[in-house]
Amino acid sequence: MSEIKRCVFCAVSVAELPGSIPYEDADVFALMDLHPVTPGHLMIIPRRHISSLADLPPELGQKLFSVGQQAAAALRASTLRCDGINLWLSDGEAAFQEVPHVHLHVIPRFEGDQFSIQANHQHATRADLERTSELVRVAFARLGHRSE
Ligand SMILES: [Zn+2]
Repeated sequence: MSEIKRCVFCAVSVAELPGSIPYEDADVFALMDLHPVTPGHLMIIPRRHISSLADLPPELGQKLFSVGQQAAAALRASTLRCDGINLWLSDGEAAFQEVPHVHLHVIPRFEGDQFSIQANHQHATRADLERTSELVRVAFARLGHRSE
């Protein structure tokens, strides 16, 4: 059995599994999250099985974000409670990616919605920031992306 056969998003994409889909086109579809953080929580999912952000072609990434933006507008225009939006993409298990098929969460937010992110923000000195900035700058350049 291939990985694609086991992928729940691929199965929903071809209607082998049921899903509530408020939007779809040839490239991506929106799927209501089975365990919503708030009512209206959905995901924008490419139809092609792409497991990680690194493998996502830039044009498809643009499409993913563009439809995510439209979904955010639709949620705000709907009768669902939505005073704010989080766009959330988890890449890798360490970042809580649960389904190994790239997806962008679109989460309606409102005061008192019980959604929280626990983080221990650290203090960074300017020297710390310059050092980490240099590490990232070098990696950008190694990947062929230089500042203009
Ligand atoms: Zn898949």
